[in-house]
Amino acid sequence: MSLFEAKNIVKRFGGVAAVNDLSFTVEKGEILGIIGPNGSGKTTVFNLISCFFPLTSGEIHFKGKRIDQVPAHDICNLGIGRTFQVVKPLKRMTVLENVTVGAFLRTNSMAKAKHKAEEIVDFCGLSQFKDYEAKSLPLALRKRLEIARALATEPELLMLDETCAGLNPRESEEAIAIIKRIRDSGMTIIIVEHIMKVMMGISDRILAINFGSQITIGKPQEVAGHPEVIKAYLGD
Ligand code: ADP
Repeated sequence: MSLFEAKNIVKRFGGVAAVNDLSFTVEKGEILGIIGPNGSGKTTVFNLISCFFPLTSGEIHFKGKRIDQVPAHDICNLGIGRTFQVVKPLKRMTVLENVTVGAFLRTNSMAKAKHKAEEIVDFCGLSQFKDYEAKSLPLALRKRLEIARALATEPELLMLDETCAGLNPRESEEAIAIIKRIRDSGMTIIIVEHIMKVMMGISDRILAINFGSQITIGKPQEVAGHPEVIKAYLGD
């Protein structure tokens, strides 16, 4: 059984089918990258997986259970963690407090939550900033904080949405190094990134979409060489 499965998912906004009959699985321990030109439906797929809004039709299963009817605030409890393209930390709280809030999902003990948060802050290279207010951080560090907060909820599936967007090449490399460390810890990840090279280097499989539908799914090299993928990108 796959850890995650989307079956024939459809999302319409008025007349627009943002996601149109998409089916895919994610296996435990793999990184699935989702690529597609602007407006192809990537963010909508993320929002559907995290139950931000309801499916028009189709089903989403996680660990063998149907989850598309679950309220968005319960998705985290089930073991799905996500970051947002537009980062949303609790601005007046410090870095450590932000991550501790995430860790509280899995424990009632302040000491345990704080200990866990310290470990994750360290893992994400944020130790020296742990007492800074989240709002004072530059974008690259806010993005790392976003990852740290998601990790603190101890997800079994982590969804990363455009972590490198808005970062310069050096900051992107640092973010990718953190994502690779998360991958090496055995985490299952669904990732959306605009930079093709990043997606090729990090994903085990890639799902390429356009107009909300699958173009192809497979190993990065196969997908990169697919004529329709090349056409979709050249036409972007
Ligand atoms: P991507 O993340 O690949 O850029 P999106 O999922 O943001 O694509 O958008 C896919 C399509 O759905 C676009 O045509 C977009 O305009 C439309 N769309 C996305 N969100 C909404 C919304 N909340 N209301 C109406 N249309 C939307």
